[in-house]
Amino acid sequence: MFDPSADGQAEQIVQRLQQIRARIARACEESGRAPDSVKLMAVTKTVSPDRVNLALSEGVDLLGENRVQEFLSKNSSYNCEKSQIHFIGHLQTNKIRDIINKVSCIQSIDSVRRAEAVSSAAQKAGIVMPCLLEVNIGREESKSGFAPEGVLDAAGEIAALPGISLHGLMTVAPAVAGRTGDDSYFRDMQQLFLQLQKCSLPGACIDTLSMGMTGDFEMAVRCGSTLVRIGQGIFGARDVQTGLP
Ligand SMILES: *Cc1c(COP(=O)(O)O)cnc(C)c1O
Repeated sequence: MFDPSADGQAEQIVQRLQQIRARIARACEESGRAPDSVKLMAVTKTVSPDRVNLALSEGVDLLGENRVQEFLSKNSSYNCEKSQIHFIGHLQTNKIRDIINKVSCIQSIDSVRRAEAVSSAAQKAGIVMPCLLEVNIGREESKSGFAPEGVLDAAGEIAALPGISLHGLMTVAPAVAGRTGDDSYFRDMQQLFLQLQKCSLPGACIDTLSMGMTGDFEMAVRCGSTLVRIGQGIFGARDVQTGLP
C-alpha cells in the first residue's frame, strides 16, 4: 500500500498545495479580492484515498468527485465529512440515488430533466440538495451543460423544484483558453453569474461561481471565481488512459 510519508510524493503534494495557494492569493490581490473569497477544491479522480487524505490534512476546503463507482469505492476511506464533498462529473440519472446522501452539492446539473430527477431523489431522501448549473460556455460538442443563452430560463424552473436549492454556476472552459490566456469565457461566465444574482429567484442563494482548473485557475479567479477545482496541479499528472473526466 502507498504510504504517503515513505517517498517524495507526500512532500510534493504539500509543496504543490503551497504554491497553488500562493498563486490564488496573488490573483486575488491583483483583482482586489480577499484571498479567503476563493475555495480550493481537490479533484480526486484516479487519486488513491491516502493521497486524498493528505490533501485534506493540508487543509483543502473541498473534494470534487467525477465518477460514481470510483467515488463509492473510495468514500469510506476519506477523512472528511459529507459537507466537504461535491459531485462534479457527468451524472447518469440512474446513479443519482447512489450519491444523494453522500455529497453536499451537485455541481453538474446539465438539463432541467436531470434537475427534476435530482429533486425527486432528494425529496425521497428527505433532504434539499444544493446544486450548481453547468454551463457549456465554449459551446463544445464534447461537453455537457446548458447553452449560455438557455441557462437563466432554466435557472428559474430549477430554483422552483422542491428538492433543490440553487447556488450558482459551474463551467469547464475550453482548454485553449488556458493555453492562450484568453479570458473571454470566464468573463462571459462572470456576466451570467451577475445576471443570475439579479434575478433574485425565490428559494435560490446565488453564492458560488465554480470555475478554474490546473491550466486556467488564476484567470478564473481574476474573473470572479469563488471555487477552483484542481486535480493535476495538486496530485501530479494523471494517466491519460484513465484520467479523462
Ligand atoms: C478533472 C476535472 C477538474 C480538474 O482538472 P485538472 O486539470 O486536473 O485540474 C476540474 N473539474 C472537472 C469537472 C474535472 O473533471
